Amino acid sequence: MARRDYYNVLGVKKTASPDDIKRAFRALALKYHPDRNPEDVDAEQRFREIAEAWEVLGDPEKRSMYDRLGPFYKPDGKPPTPDELKDFVTDTLGNLFGRNPRNQPGADIKVSHRVTFSQVATGDETVVEVARQVRCGRCDGSGAAADGGKKTCENCNGSGKGSGRLLRARCSRCAGMGYVVIKKCQTCSGEGRHGSNDRLKVKIPKGVATGQKLKVRGKGHDGLGDGVPGDLLVLVDVDEHPIFRRRGEDLICDLPLPYSLAVLGGSVAVPTLVGHTEIQVPPGTAQGKTLRLSGKGLPAAKGRRVGDLHFKVVIDLPKNLDAKQRAALQSYSESLHAEQHPASAAFARALATHIAESASSDSEPPA
Ligand SMILES: [Zn+2]
Ligand SMILES: [Zn+2]
Repeated sequence: MARRDYYNVLGVKKTASPDDIKRAFRALALKYHPDRNPEDVDAEQRFREIAEAWEVLGDPEKRSMYDRLGPFYKPDGKPPTPDELKDFVTDTLGNLFGRNPRNQPGADIKVSHRVTFSQVATGDETVVEVARQVRCGRCDGSGAAADGGKKTCENCNGSGKGSGRLLRARCSRCAGMGYVVIKKCQTCSGEGRHGSNDRLKVKIPKGVATGQKLKVRGKGHDGLGDGVPGDLLVLVDVDEHPIFRRRGEDLICDLPLPYSLAVLGGSVAVPTLVGHTEIQVPPGTAQGKTLRLSGKGLPAAKGRRVGDLHFKVVIDLPKNLDAKQRAALQSYSESLHAEQHPASAAFARALATHIAESASSDSEPPA
């Protein structure tokens, strides 16, 4: 097989720094890795070339020899087997990521959690129950029984390293651990982890909203071996409030006002998030008008802004009047002048004009 130019294979210049070469190799190896491209012969070929190029250019001594000898350079004249290459690359990639690929990171755990309005208002700390896989304390995650549960790996004499030309590879027998388990830990049945129902503290920041995720780092499932633990993700579900509706940081509340109070104005008792207060209703307050209490809404998640509390006026018409009340309202109504109902007066004028114009155009005969 004609050897291709290793620099071309990795797509780097001859002057590339070791870091550049490492980066290029990692990106290409991930892209063409057989696990990602099952049964793709071209990808496999590409992957072999990449691994071969990396084996030389990733090693300063071999690289300088290759730079001198060019295409005549042969590490030992014998091409590595696909398995050797795969192990080598997997191992090197693992080192590049700072972890052993045979050690698995722990998965994230997602739980949903109900949050009350007052917790949103002030922030809080709560306790969430989580079923987790935790590292076994009895065997410290090794999976081996404490009394003679493991013995030194005979294949690598405890070094964890593989033999042969790919010295940096891990021992295949013990997966780089240097020992093999001969008797399993009883607590975790050799898994190195076991289930645990944990009560975990979760900080609820003020201003949280439904759908927000609170992340508690490292409180997901523990990893296997040296694998890092996952995170706990708490999905916030804010309870509805019996009185207030939420719009971002602002709160909205319908405020029914008796007709007479809306006309005359006056003070009225209203609820706030933490208690109650009185607001002034100006005389002649119309249906749909909003009365605002500034700074009495919810705090923003970021910064110091606090929303407002809006009362939306709903005119509450009296029902089931008795004869005396009807008579009183009747006489009150008759006492009003047209200009005291300006909107009605304007409407009446528009109607009169409309009738007059329709009559002159005789487009529509009266019914
Ligand atoms: Zn154990
Ligand atoms: Zn070994």
